Amino acid sequence: MAVLITKKFRFESAHWLPGMPDGHKCRRLHGHSFEMEVNVLGETNPETGLLMDFGDIKKVVKPYVEMLDHYCINEIGEERDDDLLRNPSSENLAQWFFEQLQDKLPGLFSIIIHETCTSRCEYRPKF
Ligand SMILES: [Zn+2]
Repeated sequence: MAVLITKKFRFESAHWLPGMPDGHKCRRLHGHSFEMEVNVLGETNPETGLLMDFGDIKKVVKPYVEMLDHYCINEIGEERDDDLLRNPSSENLAQWFFEQLQDKLPGLFSIIIHETCTSRCEYRPKF
């Protein structure tokens, strides 16, 4: 039986979007209470009744959330020489998390980044 499970994470970070035109509000330094959903797809193990322990997802994802929480993400991008984090839109953040996690979370299906209550982006390599 195929199932899709979701673990949510929250982090508070500052960012600015250097690719936006002069005068655009997103080009100014500002912050978000980001919410992230990590979606994992697979088969339920008939013995455990689980696809994966939510605690195991948390262990894998938490270090990456802590890397960004209460930091200016653009500065982390400079320190790590990482172009996705140098321009930390929701689109680029979702891709960045996916790329960090894909080898560590078998069945990783997609990453959703909520930038505000009404705006989100889903990164899924195989649409
Ligand atoms: Zn923003």
